[in-house]
Amino acid sequence: MEPIEKLNAHLADALNLMRAAAVLGWDQQTYMPPGGADARAEQLATLSKLAHEHFVSDETGRLLEDAERAVDGTSPDSFEAALVRVVRHDYDLETKLPTALVEAIARETTRAHGVWVKAREQNDYAAFAPTLERIFDLMRQKAEALGYEDRIYDALLDQFEPGMKTAQVAEVFDGLRSELVPFVQQVFARLDAVDHAMLHLPYDVSKQAAFGLEVVKQLGYDFSRGRQDIAVHPFTTNFSINDVRITTRYLPNFLPSALFSSVHEAGHALYEQGGDQSLENTMLAGGVSLGVHESQSRLWENIVGRSKPFWQHFYPLLQKTFPEQLGNVSLDAFYRAINFVSRSLIRVEADEVTYNLHIMLRFEMENDLLEGKLSFKDAPDAWNSKMEQYLGITPPTDREGILQDVHWSSGLIGYFPTYALGTLLSVQYWDKALADVPSIPDDIAQGNFATLLEWLRANIHQHGRKYWPDELTRRVTGEPLQYRSFMRYLRSKYGEIYEL
Ligand code: ZN
Repeated sequence: MEPIEKLNAHLADALNLMRAAAVLGWDQQTYMPPGGADARAEQLATLSKLAHEHFVSDETGRLLEDAERAVDGTSPDSFEAALVRVVRHDYDLETKLPTALVEAIARETTRAHGVWVKAREQNDYAAFAPTLERIFDLMRQKAEALGYEDRIYDALLDQFEPGMKTAQVAEVFDGLRSELVPFVQQVFARLDAVDHAMLHLPYDVSKQAAFGLEVVKQLGYDFSRGRQDIAVHPFTTNFSINDVRITTRYLPNFLPSALFSSVHEAGHALYEQGGDQSLENTMLAGGVSLGVHESQSRLWENIVGRSKPFWQHFYPLLQKTFPEQLGNVSLDAFYRAINFVSRSLIRVEADEVTYNLHIMLRFEMENDLLEGKLSFKDAPDAWNSKMEQYLGITPPTDREGILQDVHWSSGLIGYFPTYALGTLLSVQYWDKALADVPSIPDDIAQGNFATLLEWLRANIHQHGRKYWPDELTRRVTGEPLQYRSFMRYLRSKYGEIYEL
């Protein structure tokens, strides 16, 4: 179909510019020396500007209209119809943003990364506050430019989770909270029931690295189309279906951190590597939304990586790698330990039970800061009091509180809820995979991860952005996003571990 080919060929330049920017972004967080920050900010701003100008050009609009006429009447499930739908969605979003604003956001967030790293190191919120306020101001301008009907947050959320509304998230969170908070209290009353001291012993970092690499390789992550490096905040990025990078970080005195963050990022990467090759260098390549993306990482990290069958397979190798620390620890004791629940300070180190509480906190604070209900001066106190309310702990420093992670300095406002949506979806997809292929847990215990990966490839990965999140979830599971499957999973797994 000629108009589709012309549209794809034209958009390939914008995609290539964005991927070049992604390579620079990857380098910025892995190998770039601190002195490179200012120059890198300018380089990223230039590439973002060029990509944006190319994508929002009149030529794109004209080719898109031709393509829309060409697919009129074809099946909405066809590649061509899906491509046109996705390009139209992104084109409408991007054409509402003035080039100067896009450039200002790229420059400010790149600069902010260095400011945040330093403020966090020195536990100095005051040094970061003016930068944070400028970022929220830019995001408010962005939301106004994109437009919204109800809450200003809707416009920001929609970029990451197309079609999702703030009110819907609040409703799902309300339902979840009503069941989760009492359950968390039940578990908190029994925290002593699980011994996890053996996880906090010294674990040689190079041995952790070797074991982690072996795990992600066996899961199916293809190292001929990817690589793993170290970053302060682990992330996955891709420049092609055939070049998907993962990162991790090692803690010498806490075994689970690098291990499960590696499995998590591999989950993201398996999704990206699993896109159909016909989608390469088209706008249909990649994950459909951050929520669906997170469903894949959380599924591998928690439902698989923290399950008994997974460790029936991997524990002998782990014991051989760390005989002093784990030689006398039984499989069952290890399984319970890696699922220990705590009053965690940060989402990335949080267990499955308390994880979503960190997201509710951030979701509420982002809304309050955007709508002017909370000042930037009072934000650290608001953070701490919510932590007390939800988790019964006050962060001892801002470094462990409001400065704890990279999202706000990157301008990722409206992004956090997708972590929780992904967590809920991960259980919905898993339940359906087991209904279709009941042998999956036994296969995993045998070290065969292919049956699960094949199911995910066939039902989710191969489609890329072909179906919107809600449509994909309904096609796969027969129902929309809901929290009840997740609560059922939590009660069953943690009820057993904590003998509730
Ligand atoms: Zn993730």
